[in-house]
Amino acid sequence: MKKYFLKTFGCQMNKSDSQRIAGFLEENNYRRTTTMEEADLIVVNMCSVRQSAVDRVFGLARKIDHCKKKNPKQQSILTGCILKQDKPKFKKMFDYLLNIKDLGSWGRYCLGKNNQRNKRDPKKDYFQLKPLSDSWPIAYVPISTGCNNFCSYCVVPYTRSEEVCRSAKDIIQEVEEAVKNNFKEIWLLGQNVNSYSASMKGDKKTKKISFPDLLKAIDKIPGDFWIRFTSSHPKNFSKELIRVMAHSKKITPYLHLAVQSGDNQILERMNRKYTIGQYKKIAREIKEEISNINLSTDIIVGFPGETKKQFENSIRLVEKTDFDMIYIARYSARPGTAAAKMDDDVPPEEKKRREKALNRVLEKRLKEKNKKYLNKIIPVLILKKDKDFLIAKSFDYKTVKVKAAAENIGNFINVKITKTDAWGLLGKIDQWKKQISHN
Ligand code: SF4
Repeated sequence: MKKYFLKTFGCQMNKSDSQRIAGFLEENNYRRTTTMEEADLIVVNMCSVRQSAVDRVFGLARKIDHCKKKNPKQQSILTGCILKQDKPKFKKMFDYLLNIKDLGSWGRYCLGKNNQRNKRDPKKDYFQLKPLSDSWPIAYVPISTGCNNFCSYCVVPYTRSEEVCRSAKDIIQEVEEAVKNNFKEIWLLGQNVNSYSASMKGDKKTKKISFPDLLKAIDKIPGDFWIRFTSSHPKNFSKELIRVMAHSKKITPYLHLAVQSGDNQILERMNRKYTIGQYKKIAREIKEEISNINLSTDIIVGFPGETKKQFENSIRLVEKTDFDMIYIARYSARPGTAAAKMDDDVPPEEKKRREKALNRVLEKRLKEKNKKYLNKIIPVLILKKDKDFLIAKSFDYKTVKVKAAAENIGNFINVKITKTDAWGLLGKIDQWKKQISHN
């Protein structure tokens, strides 16, 4: 039996794609190894969103080269988000650069002539390949891939090309299967889930399915599980989505809604297609409908031309908006994007300063805000072990450390919060109790 080594960089979408790669390879009699040296096949699923991620792949490629010298039969594949500009260099370092969308036909390149996968129709949707999850109790279920938005700093429309939505029937089936297999947290994934649109055959006629429709259908699947989703673009955010979230017991009160900047001019240059006023309106409306919602966001600091005054607008936004987490990125130019043609004029030191300044505001707010959890009993899902603690996520997506036995992983339990700080909560098991039945 042949062995494969699989390394994944980047977002949940890449993790989800890697699970399909693993499923495909295992179906073809490969078994996973965590030792690169003993692998017959090395697959690297890369991310190009930041230069640092690309540099890590270059570093890994050097290690692969070293392994290959010892084992010349070893093959290597690079897939995922690869920039056109980087392809010539990577072509010299990997045996194959393959598109994840062609996963069904990878066999013809690397799995041997008589492999059954050679017979697969290469045009067949890669979403139809079965994933092999390594993330239980979390199931990542892609609903779309690619993006049509062309935010000026982002490589995704170039690396993943245009948005393709998966059939609602297939998505529902995959969720049903995950629930049957005891997965407790379902993440619906897409570069912009809010633009999801697909047709579905009904009893009488074919109807259009929007993202809120899809959520409603998944919400009806019997079983005890939570539903989360990402990413959500503010420009496509609908009141219907808020309504569906508010009326569901399974969709968790957590929303990641990337704002990217607190300044309208910067937003325009980022090609984000909404204003701060519109963003605040969505945040207000969702808080009115779902009072316990936790909101997180992304902010880029040091975008080309961002003045100190414009950055102060991001600070003001954070001071006035009730965010529960901000993923802050220092701008780095990505080749081929519209922003890469702009003058990257904010010095690295200043970007660092802005990142720290935002973090300080966030930390101060969260320190205060998280105090509301102290001595409260909240439902959490235990996800994994980390040293002496188990790591859990609350219904509203707070990280909770719990001291308990590892056999609790994958359970919904009630936890009494004994300590809080800006970045997380500490709790102890209050009582053994399964989470409210969702049926
Ligand atoms: S919405 Fe913008 S940031 Fe998100 S993947 Fe598409 S282009 Fe990139």
